Amino acid sequence: MTPALLLALTFALPAMAQEAFRWPEGKRAAVSLSFDDARVSQPKLGLDLFRRHPAKVTFYVGPRGVEKDLAGWKSLVADGHEIGNHSTSHPCPGNFAWSRKNALEDYSMARLEADVDAATRDIELLLGVRTASFAYPCGMKTIGRGVETQSYVPAVATRFRTSRGFRDEAANDPGYVDFAQIAGVESDGMSFEAMKAAAQTAAKAGGWLVFAGHEIGKPANQTTDAAALEQFIDWAKNPANGIWLDTVDSVAKYVEGHRPAPKTVSTIHREAIEWTDVWMPHTNDHALPRVLLIGDSITRGYYSGVEEKLKGKAYVARITTSKAIGDPALLSEIRTYLQEERFDVVHFNVGMHGWDYSEQEYQREFPSLLGLLRSSSPGAKLVWANTTPVRKDRENGASNLRIEARNRIVQQLAVAAGIPVDDLHWLMVSHADLHSDDVHYTKEGNALMAVQVAVSVEGLLPRK
Ligand SMILES: [Zn+2]
Repeated sequence: MTPALLLALTFALPAMAQEAFRWPEGKRAAVSLSFDDARVSQPKLGLDLFRRHPAKVTFYVGPRGVEKDLAGWKSLVADGHEIGNHSTSHPCPGNFAWSRKNALEDYSMARLEADVDAATRDIELLLGVRTASFAYPCGMKTIGRGVETQSYVPAVATRFRTSRGFRDEAANDPGYVDFAQIAGVESDGMSFEAMKAAAQTAAKAGGWLVFAGHEIGKPANQTTDAAALEQFIDWAKNPANGIWLDTVDSVAKYVEGHRPAPKTVSTIHREAIEWTDVWMPHTNDHALPRVLLIGDSITRGYYSGVEEKLKGKAYVARITTSKAIGDPALLSEIRTYLQEERFDVVHFNVGMHGWDYSEQEYQREFPSLLGLLRSSSPGAKLVWANTTPVRKDRENGASNLRIEARNRIVQQLAVAAGIPVDDLHWLMVSHADLHSDDVHYTKEGNALMAVQVAVSVEGLLPRK
């Protein structure tokens, strides 16, 4: 290799590494038009408008709205428009008087999920379409109020490829945007010039602009001006302007296939036998604070000792499982139980399973567990427990080197997040004699850990 070529390559590399996301056929931006609520004007005027000025758009509907003009909606589907999900009952903040009886503040996660799932089912029954996109009613993404507020972004993220917000400010960065929170820019009341300007701004950054409107017609409240819309489509379709106009899901699929893979574990590793053991005592008692121990068979070993030590001071529950960090099932199981009960202290360890996941994956995935505990158990004090040592290293399995590496990873993350660490590893490292097998502990070993766990939890109990 000549020095000149070597030099050229050296300079070329960083540019290649940062290569920008590219739209198809040299387009400079993508624009999706979307309309919410299955308003009557959408099939009535939109059907014809999008034939005269050909464009495929996305309608976020509720099944009750579709029923008002089933034939019209079937024609929109036949024309190739996308049908998205906008929930069944359109829950919004109760601050709107019209939503007071269906207020997001009063929702549980189970109720919210049932509402969305009913829409998925009914839309499929009515129109034969399985919705892949969701639009947050009123653009709101939370349920509950105050310290009990929970995000329902994860609930829709597991159900839809994309979910769109409302009254956001700008276009989406295709190389980065979280598909569960696609920005939606309101098109109601916009002039053609304003729509064009927004698309041109998006084009400067190679963005994906998603418009969100309601009625289609003459300028009025919550109405996207039909004349502006026609002009905008004609302008966007002119190849000279470099705009790719398509539905939310079509653009999303392209983006998915053309951006660097999102940082998630690509393969799920499971053990030959997976198990979960959940124990929730005193579910009808309310006098004492509640403590939850999350862990595995080690936790199950010291659980009853902790319960005994905290008798009269707290109700102690456990979620123990073989599921590992990196397995989405770990998160969905924990989420399920946290929806049923509120805890004041959550003492957790997940580190003795999932040895098919590298430590890098462990590090990358740990924050989603932390995020789940924070969002599903609002107000709870968290304590991380370090993973205990093994008596004998196992090839491709638990080894003290790997356990220590994982403990270091979480300890750093926990300290950064202001979470205290219960160092059960330090406690047990000098008690190898208390192992009952290579991993687990004898009665004495469990009792020793129970004392330390009870002490670390007790200091965090609220005074009731
Ligand atoms: Zn709506």
